[in-house]
Amino acid sequence: MKMDLIDPEFPKTLERFGAGSAFECFNCGSCVAVCPLVSGHFPRKMIRYAQLGATEKILRDAKDLWKCLHCGLCSRTCPRGADPGELILSLRRFTLDHWKRWPNV
Ligand code: SF4
Ligand code: SF4
Repeated sequence: MKMDLIDPEFPKTLERFGAGSAFECFNCGSCVAVCPLVSGHFPRKMIRYAQLGATEKILRDAKDLWKCLHCGLCSRTCPRGADPGELILSLRRFTLDHWKRWPNV
């Protein structure tokens, strides 16, 4: 079975794309409860991937990032100031940068 690669420095890398708050998240799930998408533990799942540096999973599920409506409910609700809405935008920027550099990966 193929193992996904993990980059423990990824939350720091994400600062280049606009958000460095991934480590603030303690996975309470409040953002999932208020997100109108109500789908697949979004956005917490993506934030957890970012914390772990599970970039292959982020890229594999990247289409979900473009479902975000930018309503800001998650960021207003987050008790830790993790700003999940901004994290989602940062993950989009990371994904676009990755695809620009490595279009076939
Ligand atoms: S509400 Fe904030 S702390 Fe809770 S899971 Fe979402 S991002 Fe993490
Ligand atoms: S900003 Fe995006 S991720 Fe956050 S609650 Fe709204 S739709 Fe969901």
